[in-house]
Amino acid sequence: MLQQTQVSRVLEYYPRFLARFPTLAHLAGAQEREVVKAWAGLGYYARARNLHKLSRAVLREGPRAWGDPRPDARHDAGAPLPDAPELLRRLPGIGAYTAGAVATFAFERRAALVDTNVARVLTRVFAPRLHPKRPRDQKAIWAIAEATLPRAGKPSWTHNQALMELGALVCTARVKRCGQCPVHGVCRSSER
Ligand code: SF4
Repeated sequence: MLQQTQVSRVLEYYPRFLARFPTLAHLAGAQEREVVKAWAGLGYYARARNLHKLSRAVLREGPRAWGDPRPDARHDAGAPLPDAPELLRRLPGIGAYTAGAVATFAFERRAALVDTNVARVLTRVFAPRLHPKRPRDQKAIWAIAEATLPRAGKPSWTHNQALMELGALVCTARVKRCGQCPVHGVCRSSER
């Protein structure tokens, strides 16, 4: 829901949607039109359709949905999604950012994620010559995100949360609050 959509708007929808579809099994058991109806007003309906497709794929096909070739790969109904970003990316609607976010925030895996806020912070701190929105710079920005991850999964969770918060509250697109910034001492764009 948070793709291209502000948190304040999602907060209206998320509890309602979760009450209607509390598990992937509830989603998979519903018709696509019911899922889209519950999403009505949020826009970008491909997200609802992909979520529905994903729920059916993982519940019906299990690990084959993300390309696990082992014939004996078993489907764990209690944990129906893979925890590795490269496997999550094989599922409908999951791109690099969502795969990283699910891996780190849901499974506490050591996984990088880059959204607009994170890209801005990483480029300002480490590589001011890169542009956070320029397509040809994306690979380098993801490489910085990978290289600066802590070694273990749990600290990666905190690290990624902190990067997102820094970009949302301190180092924003409009203003750099370098005087209040915890990384000003190492930042290559600090104005303090
Ligand atoms: S020191 Fe300033 S430019 Fe650098 S990350 Fe902090 S707020 Fe952004």
